Amino acid sequence: MGPQDQPDYVNAVACIVTRLVPGDLLTELQRIETVMGRRRDGTRWGARLLDLDILLYGTERINEPGLRIPHPGIAERDFVLFPLRELAPDLEIPGRGTVSRLCRTVSAAGLVAIPEEAHA
Ligand code: ADP
Ligand code: MG
Repeated sequence: MGPQDQPDYVNAVACIVTRLVPGDLLTELQRIETVMGRRRDGTRWGARLLDLDILLYGTERINEPGLRIPHPGIAERDFVLFPLRELAPDLEIPGRGTVSRLCRTVSAAGLVAIPEEAHA
């Protein structure tokens, strides 16, 4: 996404259980980004130390200026869809079909899987 002259980056998808409502979850994720050292300079899509996004929140659909769920990029982003398929191939993206089906519409050519033994 965005500028092509940025270094490689690592992507991962996690499934969590939370009591936080979506807006509070976003605030908490941004707090973690800040604690980890991310500085927001307004550059979109550029290299970031850490970027924590909410992809889905159950089956909810939210369309507010500061929070869109499902995340608008899911259906086009290879680096989101392939890690997500490892967790939940049959998951239905509201309005877009299953994760497996969406994976068949994008190429994995730009992705390199990190071997499990390299996970720390
Ligand atoms: P990126 O769009 O590349 O993730 P940022 O992390 O800087 O860029 O996020 C920009 C803004 O996107 C955030 O301030 C947040 O309000 C908004 N946003 C909207 N929907 C979401 C979502 N589902 N997950 C995370 N951020 C979101
Ligand atoms: Mg983000």
